[in-house]
Amino acid sequence: MTFLIITLRFQNTQRFKNETRRMPVLINGNLKEVLVIPGVVVASSYRDLLRERAYKVCDFCKRGLCRDIDPKLQEVSDLSSARETYRHVVEECLVDDVLGFMIPSPYPVKRTSCLMVSNAIPIDGSYALTICVDESKIGSLEFAEIGLVDEKPQALSERDKRCQIALKTLSEWLLRVLQVKSLVAFRSPIYINPGDCLCDRYIAEIVQALPVVRDTAQTRIECCFYDDKKLAEPNEVCSEAKTLDEVLRFIEGTLQSTSI
Ligand SMILES: [Zn+2]
Repeated sequence: MTFLIITLRFQNTQRFKNETRRMPVLINGNLKEVLVIPGVVVASSYRDLLRERAYKVCDFCKRGLCRDIDPKLQEVSDLSSARETYRHVVEECLVDDVLGFMIPSPYPVKRTSCLMVSNAIPIDGSYALTICVDESKIGSLEFAEIGLVDEKPQALSERDKRCQIALKTLSEWLLRVLQVKSLVAFRSPIYINPGDCLCDRYIAEIVQALPVVRDTAQTRIECCFYDDKKLAEPNEVCSEAKTLDEVLRFIEGTLQSTSI
């Protein structure tokens, strides 16, 4: 299993200006009410772009609908048809593969999203956000969530192609839709919460913390960052990119990292 974790500051406040919610957030030890962009709203803009970039999209996703309402899938009532339905939906649609689905049939068939997005919190005129991608799950047919084990192959033959499209779309989305300003991206076999420092040292604090996390958790971390504030210093875990583009290439580099 490999997680790709991206913590960033993005600038496109205009795109989400009508989607903010007032929420209490712990900022530097104090609870404050701020205008937050819900993670589900941010993630839906990735869904829109993936729908355009994917080479296989079901009719429901094409029309911006959830697969959940497909009447043909509502009758699943036993283990064997649950397996077939799960396989069919993942194979047929890259959007459902990456972003998950839930079919409320008598025998529910569920896949959680391979991409998790936090709420976006305002800092210094931009927004801070963390994205976690479970790369090993894209194109995988493991039924762990519903306790099923299938005797057929556990991953689609086109898994590598699907990972490349999902991650290439992710980097395009970061650059074009979110208009990312600075970011730290790292790959790790365990999920790491990057912390809650919300000031202009946001990226720098995470870069500084990662070697400590690596040593404490005794795990391997590969990391690349770009800090437009120039406050972050490279270290033995985190390499500094000269341009945003370099970090985006790191994000797209899933195939090299599958050996982690
Ligand atoms: Zn779909």
